[in-house]
Amino acid sequence: MNNFFNEDKLQEECGVFGIYKTDKEMQCAQLIYYGLYALQHRGQESAGIATNFEGKIDHYKDMGLVTEVFRGDVLSELKGNIGIGHVRYSTTGESHIENAQPLVVNHKNTQIALAHNGNLVNAKALREMLEDTGVVFQTTIDTEVIVNLLARGLKHGVVDSIKRVVDIIKGAYAIVITTEDMLIGVRDPHGLRPLCLGRTKNGGYVLSSESCALDTIGAELIRDVEPGEIVVIDSEGVKSFSQNNWVKKRLCIFELIYFARPDSVMDGTSVYLSRHNAGKILARESFVEADVVIGVPDSGIPAAIGFAEASGIPFGMGLIKNKYIGRTFIQPTQALREEGVMIKLNALKENVAGKRVIIVDDSIVRGTTSKKLVELLRNAGAKEVHFRVTSPPVAHTCHFGIDTPYRRELVGAMKTVDEIRDMIGADTLAFISNGGLIESVGGGTGYCSACFDGDYPMEVPVLED
Ligand code: SF4
Repeated sequence: MNNFFNEDKLQEECGVFGIYKTDKEMQCAQLIYYGLYALQHRGQESAGIATNFEGKIDHYKDMGLVTEVFRGDVLSELKGNIGIGHVRYSTTGESHIENAQPLVVNHKNTQIALAHNGNLVNAKALREMLEDTGVVFQTTIDTEVIVNLLARGLKHGVVDSIKRVVDIIKGAYAIVITTEDMLIGVRDPHGLRPLCLGRTKNGGYVLSSESCALDTIGAELIRDVEPGEIVVIDSEGVKSFSQNNWVKKRLCIFELIYFARPDSVMDGTSVYLSRHNAGKILARESFVEADVVIGVPDSGIPAAIGFAEASGIPFGMGLIKNKYIGRTFIQPTQALREEGVMIKLNALKENVAGKRVIIVDDSIVRGTTSKKLVELLRNAGAKEVHFRVTSPPVAHTCHFGIDTPYRRELVGAMKTVDEIRDMIGADTLAFISNGGLIESVGGGTGYCSACFDGDYPMEVPVLED
């Protein structure tokens, strides 16, 4: 949903979910629906479910939120005890039904359904190679390249075919697949995109982009799928295979800063606690005298609480968010925006009027929303506005499935901190340091933070600035 409400955020591309129920008589579609509902924040453009009953795959997908796509009897038509689901965000121009997932293909006597979160850096070259051999593509998404490569190798068996595919594809991927009588999860060698494994109360298994979806369906988190791991779930339980291409783990640090839900745990790190820590670290790094600390909902709230605890300045609710905005919502025109139409957020005057306010947000990308927030607080009577950010300035483009503006539109690439402060109209502005960010997520070097420091975990294509 690339619109006014999140125009100043990097945008997650997708969420994936898969389930294997041991009892063939049991239907899994409704559980997938609840799983996708819990992952809705990862993509609001389209949603889809594919279910597998003894090798025969049914599927349904459409544009819209999970609750808009699956209405009436749709779920009861999806038969089978194994299934996968997908929610998708897409960049402008690619937002149409052909690109919704899961993708289902017939290959000889087999059907495969596959859903993917991430982005391949060599998809263009692979697509051209396949087209040269006569393959006709129905979609413009990387996922179809993966399905095609997978189908070509099936004569060697599913796992061998996946091993061949992951030797060829480069980039970020968390993939769920169902074929024959299996549910399969694959995570890229760097573990850039998250994927975890859980167990249901009656002995079934679940794969999910985030653990919050396991909680939603009453499943227990077993562990994260390891970077470079292939997990195969069938009637014998869970088998693990490793890919041949071992590299250093580099989970996308933006998952912890902003994308993931705060009640998720990712590679052993609590999303809530990492945001809370970031707030505490910001209070240490860039303390300022004030009367109240507020957070920008939702991801700024845990950090604002951390900032308040560490600084001794009281936390208060300063901004109220309207969360009920679907894909069909009528966006305000530019003229209406200029008139001051602010639909998503409103200031709570009682908590900010006449006060020196510290506002904590997770990131500044273009700076446009930050500017509006400062105006909103000043219009509500704030005496001073001090902006604190739990990530360093975003200065580089992501190549791994996150929608980032051109570099020239990133204020972190084009302006100094003082210039950004002046642009957004705050009294003071401070970003967390690179070291502070790493400390907030528990330390170590197992993260990609390339959008801040340009240190990509692999060679990436040269893009227009
Ligand atoms: S470049 Fe940034 S958004 Fe992209 S994977 Fe790395 S940390 Fe995440």
